[in-house]
Parts: sequence; structure tokens; C-alpha cells
Amino acid sequence: MTDIKSLEKLTTQVRRDIVRMVHAVNSGHPGGSLGCAEFFVALYGEVLKYNPKKFTIDGKGEDLFFLSNGHISPVWYSVLARSGYFDVAELKTFRKLNSRLQGHPTTHEGLPGIRVASGSLGQGLSVALGAALAKKLNNDDRLVYSLHGDGELQEGQIWEAAMYAAANKVDNIISTVDYNGRQIDGDVEDVLDLGDLDNKWTAFGWDVLHSDGNDMTDVLKTLAKAKEHTGKGKPIMIIMRTEMGHGVDYMMGSHSWHGVAPNDDQLEKALAQNEETLGDY
Ligand SMILES: [Mg+2]
Repeated sequence: MTDIKSLEKLTTQVRRDIVRMVHAVNSGHPGGSLGCAEFFVALYGEVLKYNPKKFTIDGKGEDLFFLSNGHISPVWYSVLARSGYFDVAELKTFRKLNSRLQGHPTTHEGLPGIRVASGSLGQGLSVALGAALAKKLNNDDRLVYSLHGDGELQEGQIWEAAMYAAANKVDNIISTVDYNGRQIDGDVEDVLDLGDLDNKWTAFGWDVLHSDGNDMTDVLKTLAKAKEHTGKGKPIMIIMRTEMGHGVDYMMGSHSWHGVAPNDDQLEKALAQNEETLGDY
């Protein structure tokens, strides 16, 4: 197992990448990206089996990851680059015309690591389930992972997919919800309260686990446990508590940094709180 210290170092660097990318083009979504840094680093640094140098869309024999809340692309691009999918220098092109790193991930630019366009909320669980079923048909025993926003769970398609997964015993999928309690317009409980999420997913036939998403040790432990729960007839949902904007003090505690870029002074403050560990791009 990779040691926790090196994963935490990578997480700090990823947080620098996120704020620098968003600042450079004065657009993008830093809040959710920062909150999910530990999750992405754990996933690509320890959990997933993949080959970044021989990327294929169908990913036979590999674990697959689908980002459903595609607006948090900065964290994904940073982790993909730092995992060897493409040169970290390409992070400079984020959200620029003709870049492979669009605001919402897409496939037609051919960026290695991206298997479906995302950003329209609510669709990613259905996509991930399709991929999980394809793995079963192909006798491919690797797993499918997906990530969703909590605000995204207000979309009806999520619950249609949830029902389908349990009824069809799709037990090779590990989904995670980024339960930060915030969405673009405010706190989730004010916009449209999700109620008792734990009981909802359980009632829909899923095996539910919990994680502290900003504690690397806990994220790793929960993902390992989730893997042990696969193959037992039920899809798995991790309800992962995170703090939007985690790692940058002035971005934490509200929804206001969901989709706002830091200015020059704010960037300096954010960078001062996240040490350059592996070299800025
Ligand atoms: Mg949220």
C-alpha cells in the first residue's frame, strides 16, 4: 500500500493545481473540487487498477471511474495528470478554446482518462450501471466507481437508476455521494432537502457505507471495505461527508465558492495554505 504521507502530499499539490487552474481563467468550480481531493487521490493513488499509458474507452480488465458531477473537473484533471494520463503542463489549458480540458469533461477531445461527457447532473449513475453490466457480460471482474454531488441527488434519474441497480443485482459498482450539504444556490437542505439519505439508499436496496471524505485514512479504509462488499448481490453507496472548499479557509463554511474563481490576492492566500510538494505545473 502507498504510504499515507505520500498520498497526503499529492493531495496538497492537487489543491494547488485546482485553485491555480480556476484562477488562471477566472472560471470553474473550486469548492467541490477541493472538497473531493482526498477521494480522487485515494482512488487513483491506491484503489483503482488502470493503465494510464494504454487508455481505452471500454477499459476491459481495468477498474472504471465515472464522474457524474462533471463540474468538479479541476480535481479530476489534476489527479489524472499526476497519475500519468497526460502531461501536467496541459493543466495550463484548462477551460481554454480547443483545450482537451473543457469545463465539463467531454470525450471528443480525446483526453485520456475520460470515458463519458458529464456535467448534466443525474445521468452518471445510469452510465456507470451500463458499464458495470457490460463488465458482467464480458466476464470482467474489475469494478466500476462513480461520484455524485448531493445536490445532484435531487434529479429524478438518480432514483430510477438506483431502483434498477438493486433490482438487477448490479453488485460490481461502488458509488459515492459527495455529501457536503451545499449546492450552487445554497445549502442542500434549503434548496430541496434530501431527508434521511441513509434510509433512502437502504430502502432502494443498496448497501450503504459512510466515510469522512477529508480524512485520507478514513477514505482509504471505506473504499477498501466497499470492495469487500462487492459481489454480494447489492450495489454499494458510500455517503461521504466533505467540506466544500476544504483546505482553503475562506472557501469553507458556505456554498459561495461552488463556482467562483479566486482573484490574485485570494489565490496567494490559498497557495500559502497548501504547500508545493511535487512541483507546480
Ligand atoms: Mg454538494
